[in-house]
Amino acid sequence: MPGPSKYEYLVTGGAGFIGSHLCELLLSRGKSVLVLDDLSTGNLSNLDGCSHNSSFRLVVGSVLDESLTRGLVHQCRTIIHLAAAVGVENIIRQPVETIETNVKGTEIVLMAAESCGTPVFIASTSEIYGKSENVPFREDGDIVLGATCRSRWSYACCKAIDEFLALAYWKAKGLPVVIGRLFNTVGPRQSGRYGMVLPRFIEQAVSEKPITVFGDGEQTRCFSLVYEIVDAIVSLIENPDAVGKVINIGSTGEISIGSLAEKVREISGSNSEIVLIPYEEAYPDDFEDMRRRAPDVSLLRTLTGKVPEAEIDAIIREILSK
Ligand code: UDP
Repeated sequence: MPGPSKYEYLVTGGAGFIGSHLCELLLSRGKSVLVLDDLSTGNLSNLDGCSHNSSFRLVVGSVLDESLTRGLVHQCRTIIHLAAAVGVENIIRQPVETIETNVKGTEIVLMAAESCGTPVFIASTSEIYGKSENVPFREDGDIVLGATCRSRWSYACCKAIDEFLALAYWKAKGLPVVIGRLFNTVGPRQSGRYGMVLPRFIEQAVSEKPITVFGDGEQTRCFSLVYEIVDAIVSLIENPDAVGKVINIGSTGEISIGSLAEKVREISGSNSEIVLIPYEEAYPDDFEDMRRRAPDVSLLRTLTGKVPEAEIDAIIREILSK
């Protein structure tokens, strides 16, 4: 049993966009939080709302550092493992780092957790569904990925390995794991630097630059506000019925990227023009996009009693207000 001096949560990747909102939520509920982050895509300013709290501690380091990670895991009661190489552009431009961080990092966290029986939430991704046309995606549906010569798919493959490994730790060793497949999550502090569409559109609109829609703009996504996503993560890891399960975490409000561009322009009062950029100009590496992506959220609703419901207009306004 954990001793009284332990932190309630270890959040790997806690200085990132989602991680920092998660830390704020946990601290607001009176929980103590230890963060491990290498500040590769995360940054210190994301933690401005946490760093002065005496129940908070940041350790700058990598989940690939096995002895460091093990030491921190032993100091906490629950792990939320978010540390990963993220963003489609990042993944294409840094293929080796992506694979190593996303596979070895999770393996190290699971091994450390198993050595002391600590429950772990593993952040997976809707990217796993790949080119499946079985929309809305159910957790037990088939996944359809592209060829290995297209680096994009390495991200989904790595996360699939993480899921297999986490489920294996549950089935073979009894380690309590919960796997959440995060759909497109947006909100204040998200950077457009790694390719994410909404912060990019907002930056472009606010600076009156062209809003760059890739492809024909008919591809769809469901966007969720980060506050609702971190709330779902905490509800799931605190729910014993979620153990050993894979759960979609996202909203069902599907919108095309072209319509998203129009909404951003309208709500921000921008005069930016909306331009269509062919995929081959937007991305290197013979890029393949997903046409539709939307979750089946039945399991999330059953386990947490709610699903993210912020609408896209309100989400855009929230980001613009920060
Ligand atoms: N996208 C776009 N313009 C941009 C960045 C992205 O049209 O400046 C498109 C991208 O091709 C994809 C969608 O927006 O169809 C969502 O991209 P993102 O990288 O945010 O997330 P994904 O859902 O692809 O992981």
